[in-house]
Amino acid sequence: MSGEASRPVKSEQLQATDEITEVAPNVLRTQLPANITGLGHVNMYVMEDDRGVTVVDPGLPTKESWTAINKRLAEIGVPLKRVHSVIVTHSHPDHYGGAARIRSETGADIITHRLFRTFYDPTEPPDVDAEELAMMMRSPFDAPPWGGPAMDVPWQRRVRLRIGKTFPKLMRVPTPSVRLHESDRMKFAGRDWMAIHTPGHTHDHLCLFDPETGTLLSGDHVLPTITPHISGLTAHGDPLTLFFDSLDKVGRFADQVNVTLPAHGNPFTNTGERVQQIKDHHAERLQKLRDVSIEFNKPATVMDFAQHLFSPRAQGAMADSEAYAHLEHLRILGDFERRDNDGTFEYVIKD
Ligand SMILES: [Zn+2]
Ligand SMILES: [Zn+2]
Repeated sequence: MSGEASRPVKSEQLQATDEITEVAPNVLRTQLPANITGLGHVNMYVMEDDRGVTVVDPGLPTKESWTAINKRLAEIGVPLKRVHSVIVTHSHPDHYGGAARIRSETGADIITHRLFRTFYDPTEPPDVDAEELAMMMRSPFDAPPWGGPAMDVPWQRRVRLRIGKTFPKLMRVPTPSVRLHESDRMKFAGRDWMAIHTPGHTHDHLCLFDPETGTLLSGDHVLPTITPHISGLTAHGDPLTLFFDSLDKVGRFADQVNVTLPAHGNPFTNTGERVQQIKDHHAERLQKLRDVSIEFNKPATVMDFAQHLFSPRAQGAMADSEAYAHLEHLRILGDFERRDNDGTFEYVIKD
């Protein structure tokens, strides 16, 4: 061994393996390939009952992922047509990718939170407000509201996004057939699960809790070693406050949780502790922004703050967006002031 401290590999970053493990009664963990920023796989949980199976978060809309779904189900000994329900925890492509195709081949229900909506979805739920819709429908390569550079989206992806907006079916964007409200109950794996709305990472994020065995499906809301991205590109004013409230919501019943099943990484049992760690992490970030502003000693842009908040490797549109979410949180708390310098926001800590 060298003298260098080796950096532990985070379980969310591991490549998908074909290992299948029972992680709760009648709940199997399978892994699908998902090589996107900071991740190596997505967990597709398979819950068995006498009607067949429910799958949770069936991966990216890629051929590779579709092949893996079929392989995993074959290994378990369940033909695709036995899938009667697909739960999608939130509107990110690594979670909904296989849902529409499963439904088209099996007629399975697609179950989401009632607010589920994807970036390209032109068919909004009836209770959406106009401001939010405008925000959701803005192109991801428009300049961001804080006045930085537009996202650097390669042209292939731009073309795909444009096609997706016009023809969502081609992008395999699912249309939910069951939209859950807070505290709604549904039976999976022969037991009742309760819907828990956990906005923050996305506004439509859904967790499901089974009090009988103390099993929590946490999606991207509570992950074992990384913290989910909190985007500033939302119409919900202060997504960080929403996220903290959603963490507290889980924290309040964490002592009843025996095992948390995240969408990425290994299942874990220290749910309450993990919730606290994620809160601490963001509290540290907020403190860092206060310190940096004192150091700057003058108003600075979102990009200036992002450079101090994230490692050089993590710089870019996502880092700016997350820095913006944190700065807006501090502004709404009354700690920071914001001014508009010719279309570019600048923030400074108040005396
Ligand atoms: Zn996500
Ligand atoms: Zn994810």
